[in-house]
Amino acid sequence: MDYRVESSETLRNKCAACYRQFNKIEHLVEHMRTSYHSAHEPTCGICKKHCRSFESLREHLIGPLPKQECRNIFSTRGCKFCLAILDSPYALRVHQDRCQLSGVNAGLLGRFANLGIRDNTENGSTRGTQVVALACKMVGGGSDGSLDLCAKVCLIDEYENIIFQSYVKPLLPVTNYRYETTGIRPEYLRDAMPLRQVQKKIQDFLCNGEPMWKIRPRGGKARILVGHGLDHDLDSLQVEYPQVMIRDTAKYPPLMKTSKLSNSLKYLTQAYLGYDIQTGIQDPYEDCVATMKLYMRMRSQVHKTEAYPLASDPQNRNNFASWRQNELERMNPEQMLEASRSDYYCWCLDSRDM
Ligand SMILES: [Zn+2]
Ligand SMILES: [Zn+2]
Ligand SMILES: [Zn+2]
Ligand SMILES: [Zn+2]
Repeated sequence: MDYRVESSETLRNKCAACYRQFNKIEHLVEHMRTSYHSAHEPTCGICKKHCRSFESLREHLIGPLPKQECRNIFSTRGCKFCLAILDSPYALRVHQDRCQLSGVNAGLLGRFANLGIRDNTENGSTRGTQVVALACKMVGGGSDGSLDLCAKVCLIDEYENIIFQSYVKPLLPVTNYRYETTGIRPEYLRDAMPLRQVQKKIQDFLCNGEPMWKIRPRGGKARILVGHGLDHDLDSLQVEYPQVMIRDTAKYPPLMKTSKLSNSLKYLTQAYLGYDIQTGIQDPYEDCVATMKLYMRMRSQVHKTEAYPLASDPQNRNNFASWRQNELERMNPEQMLEASRSDYYCWCLDSRDM
């Protein structure tokens, strides 16, 4: 127990989300202005401290310098994958069996990998699909083989069914097949589908009949696109897609290592889903499945519904505008947290109206 005597003044200036203390109320207001605390932040199930990312929550619970009382409870009934706290050690065992997912049967994949094109983009069964995951495998181009060229692409639906999978014939000559990780041989690409054709197929499937300029975050026909490092994949496919429809596990703040550094998909899958990927020859289907599982887990989080403006509304920056300084200084820390909104779009919001 901590028996330090805190003056009522410092208690008043303690952030209600991350528990940092400030000497002056102006400093707390300034802190709230730049931290974008919200109900969507990963939160410790024991002391309710808000963390910027799951990595910092993990550190708070099981890092080298954890909060001791949280660590003690976590060690008996905390799930090491999703970091939730269960009611009892028994409930934890039941939960963790379901929380730890298994990957793709690699042997089976290997056998089907070279069958060539699978294309269900025109198939009626994919018409209702709202969320798709995409991944590419790259071979090397350019004189030193360091230029990434997409040579294999995969697109799956939310049930992990393949919508489209194909080898891709790049526009430039391949100078390094990177066989040890891609498993791609020259003969697989010789008569593969040309990049232009792949690009059009994927573009059309994503937009789903909606003209690009008309795509809105909600209520349209265009599909949500999930992936890891999608800028690079879309670039190599020369596909354009609006940011509002993209859910990138490399750029989603709760899943990042720091505010600027991404975690690798291999790490995220190991840490949060509990299985291994990208061992030996890599298949984009495996990456699609991992990103889709991560997306589904993030989307299924239950967060408190906020009053207007929402985390996704650009107006939320006005909540801590400098013209409100006097008003903010009269608030207590809980009221400030109540007014504070996230600076990113939480994926739990995707589940609200779909
Ligand atoms: Zn704070
Ligand atoms: Zn949320
Ligand atoms: Zn805690
Ligand atoms: Zn769990």
